[in-house]
Order: sequence, then structure tokens, then C-alpha cells
Amino acid sequence: MMDTRDKGSPQLLPTLKQYFGFSSFRPLQEEIILDTLAGKDVFALLPTGGGKSLCFQLPALVRPGLTVVISPLIALMKDQVDALTASGAPATFLNSSLEAGESTPRLRGLHKGEFRLLYVAPERLMLSGFLEDLRRWNVNLFAIDEAHCVSEWGHDFRPEYRAISKLRELFPEVPFMALTATATERVREDIIRALSLREPQIFVASFNRPNLTYRVHAKSGAYEQTLSFIRARPRESGIVYCHSRKTAESVAQKLNEDGVSARPYHAGLPGEERSRNQELFLRDEVRVVCATIAFGMGINKPNVRFVIHYDLPKNVEGYYQETGRAGRDGLPSECLLLFSPGDVVKQTGFINEKTDPHEQQLAREQLQQMVHYAEIASCRRASLLDYFGEEFPVANCEACDNCLSPRDTFDGTLVAQKFLSCVFRVREKSGFGVGLNHITEVLTGADTEKIRRWGHTQLSTYGIGRDVGRAEWGAIGRELVRLGFLEQTKDKFPVIQITAEGRKFLKQRGTVQLSRPITAPAKQAHQAGE
Ligand code: ADP
Ligand code: ZN
Repeated sequence: MMDTRDKGSPQLLPTLKQYFGFSSFRPLQEEIILDTLAGKDVFALLPTGGGKSLCFQLPALVRPGLTVVISPLIALMKDQVDALTASGAPATFLNSSLEAGESTPRLRGLHKGEFRLLYVAPERLMLSGFLEDLRRWNVNLFAIDEAHCVSEWGHDFRPEYRAISKLRELFPEVPFMALTATATERVREDIIRALSLREPQIFVASFNRPNLTYRVHAKSGAYEQTLSFIRARPRESGIVYCHSRKTAESVAQKLNEDGVSARPYHAGLPGEERSRNQELFLRDEVRVVCATIAFGMGINKPNVRFVIHYDLPKNVEGYYQETGRAGRDGLPSECLLLFSPGDVVKQTGFINEKTDPHEQQLAREQLQQMVHYAEIASCRRASLLDYFGEEFPVANCEACDNCLSPRDTFDGTLVAQKFLSCVFRVREKSGFGVGLNHITEVLTGADTEKIRRWGHTQLSTYGIGRDVGRAEWGAIGRELVRLGFLEQTKDKFPVIQITAEGRKFLKQRGTVQLSRPITAPAKQAHQAGE
């Protein structure tokens, strides 16, 4: 981890003030800028809202030459360029949204050296003549925004990003800066390799968002839960993320009927309506946006006070990004995830429909990590940070449900024994392993086709768990996985099996404490300041 103290850099501060109106740097910004100005390649991993743009915008303004910013977010280029222009920074963009006639004056300006910043989409690099043009423009930095798009391991791979590697050959003397908010260790290595970064200075800012509180509630009457949460915060605005367009629409509509101003936002709406809804939200004219994941890339509304996940996100990375849109102004904000095992089944269904086995495998692992996050009984912040390879050194974060009110535990010895011996008996009888779901069915004495076909009604463990519901058995099974007594294979239909530790537990008649599953709190528990 880098030293993040603000050392103060007299030559940069006046420029920071003049163009951006800020009087100090955010963590790592100054270090990144100084290394860039020294001609080094830089890799910067800063969380959303960490202030990545400034890392290339400011160097562009303190010296002559042109900084080329490569970004996939065509829709945002105009806003960024407008903002820069308004503060007196000469900037322009070239992308497919421009009419043929609109590019000409821009190109002329670039030839004359009138601009300090040029935003381009990666496709542009492939257009004939463009690379030759670049050579004449005195480029002093290539900044590659959303650099994870170059990696197939990232969640947003864009083949066009491959073209960037050509730049390195053509401009061996120009430094590169790769910026991203989403990169695990593997993606990080991928980016550095794919962009041929040369001995890059690597900056990784903490992903911790101390002003966000994380909670997970069992989903039970999701709409009512959402409404009472919002009603308990009558002056605050937020985002409700939904899995489908249809849900986003219907939740928005119901909220309006219930007196909460809300608008939907998803890729199925006409562009005009989408921008209008976004605009209304940004201007605080509606309180709530009910959105699919299409909403958010680059949204910069500082006072989003809550983010509710109405449905289970596909992966932890997406969840982190989406919750990260809350509290950008640094004030306390809340993140609530409504979790139901039914959502896991639904998502597994979608995953099984995928045709690419590699993609399927990845999606399955990601979903498991998401479920793990939802069900974990320890600190959620620590769990999120752990996902990004960061250690959270504090025992109690004081801003997640599990830290604020530790989950009750109970003597789980008997249920653990029942579960493990059921896994054992099924394999003994059939000679093959089964999934966690099947075990819960045997335990609860379900009458399914498979149970009959495989003769599992004859097992001594058949129906020994009727006193507990199937969903609870599922949660117990997953907790036993987390505790290391069981493991799940990574196959298409994951099979559950006992580990050495699980066998030892059975044999030596150990004891174990399990956590009570998450619950749906009574209405008043939604009150702010719970
Ligand atoms: P990112 O691209 O990392 O998500 P942005 O570059 O959009 O973040 O910056 C997020 C917000 O932080 C913007 O509103 C930006 O103006 C603000 N910001 C950036 N640097 C600073 C700074 N040094 N001081 C105060 N605000 C800053
Ligand atoms: Zn915590």
C-alpha cells in the first residue's frame, strides 16, 4: 500500500485550485500525477469516486502537449469535455456520436495544437489516418480509463481495447496511465500485460468506504420492505437496483402511487426518457430511481443517501460498484440488500442457460461469492474488502449489521451432525455425490422424482430434519461449507461432499456453534438510526 499522506506540491496546488476549485488532493492523486509528470507508466486502482479523472486532467494542464484519454463511455465524454471547457481547460472529444461535419473543426484545432485534452473511444484508434494524426499532435500522455475493459477476466471486456496495444509500438516514448475502479489481482496483471506497461508505478487506494453502512435483510415482501425503508427516510434520495426492467418499472410505479416520487431507469427506455429521468434525479426533483445495472456508470450525484438491492446482484464486484454510488459526498449513507434463496435459484437458472462453459463457470463462482457475502455472519465490510484483496484490520467496523448487532448463534451440533451424516449416507447408498438442494430435500422428507428413483426414502436420514424448513437447511449447509466441514465442487451441478475436517467432526463428536440466519426485521427496524 502506498503512503497516502498529503505532502503538498506547491507547483500543482495553484492549478488544482484554478481549474477544479479544490484545495487539496484526494489520496494518491498527487503521487500519481507526479510520477506521470516524471514520465513513468502508472497503474492506478482507485475506487469509484476516488477522483481518477483528475489524475490525467491536471497533468494535461500544467505542461504543453496533448493528453489523449481513451474511454469506452461515449455518453459521458461530452459532459466531461463541457465541464473542462467551462473551467477554462481546452478539451475536445472525437467519437461516433459526432456528425461528419462536427469532427472537422476539432481535427483542425488539434492540428493547430489548440487542445490539451482529447477524449476518444477505442474504436477511433482503428480508423484510417487517426494514428498518423496522433503522431503530429505532440502527445504527452495516453490515459486509459476503465482499463479493466482490456481484460477478459474483468466483467466488462471490450475487444476494441485490444487496439490500444498498438499505441505502445507507435509511441514508445509516451507514458501510459491505466485507470480502473474494478480490478482483482488477476485483472490487474492482465491489464499491465495487455497494455504493455513498462515497470509501472502501481497505486492501489483503499476500497473501504467508511461512510457506508452495509445491511442484508431476508427478503420477504420486498416491495413493502423497500417502501418502509424509504418512508423512514422522508427527505433522502436513493437508488433501488432491480434485476429486471419489469421490476424496475413496477417498483417505480408503486412508489409513486404510495407518494414517493420515483422514476425507472433501464436500457429498454427510449434514450430521451432515460436522460430525463436521470436529470430529474440529479436535480433532486425525484427522490428515487428504480434501476437496472444500466444505471450508474459515471453517475456522479454526491448526495445519494441509500442504495437498495431489491434483487441479488450477480457478483460482488457489481454490488460494490452499485453501493459505491451512495455517499460520494462522504456523509453517512446506507446500503441494504434484500436476500432470498429464491433469487439464487433464479440466477442459477440464467447461468445454466449460458452456452459458453468458461463463462458459465465464472458466473457460478461469482454467484457463490455473492451468496457468501449475503449469508456471512461476520463483518460485511471486511468481507467486501477481502474480495478486493484488502485486509480490514479492525475487528468491529461499527457500520454493518453484523458488527452493529452480532448475529445470535446457537448450538448447531445436532443439525450439523444430521446434515453431514445425510451427505455421507446419500453417497454411501448411491455411489455418487448430489447437490446441496437434494440433501435438504432428503432431510425434510420431500417426495421428489429423484428421491424415489434413487431410493433415498430408505435412508436413515430421510425426513430427520422435518422440524426445520428447507431454506434453513440450505443456509445451514452453506454455513457448514464456510466452516470447512463440507465443500462444493465447481461443476455445472455442484456436488456437496464432506471434507476431512467434517469427517473428524462426525467421528470425534465435536460441537459447533452456528449463526441464526438473517431475518426480515419487523417494520420499525427499518427506522433510520436503527
Ligand atoms: P472516479 O472517476 O474515480 O469515479 P471522478 O474523477 O469522477 O472519480 O471524481 C469523483 C468526484 O470527486 C468528482 O466530483 C470530482 O470533482 C471530485 N474530486 C476529484 N478530486 C478531488 C479533490 N482533490 N478534492 C475534492 N474533490 C475531488
Ligand atoms: Zn462490520
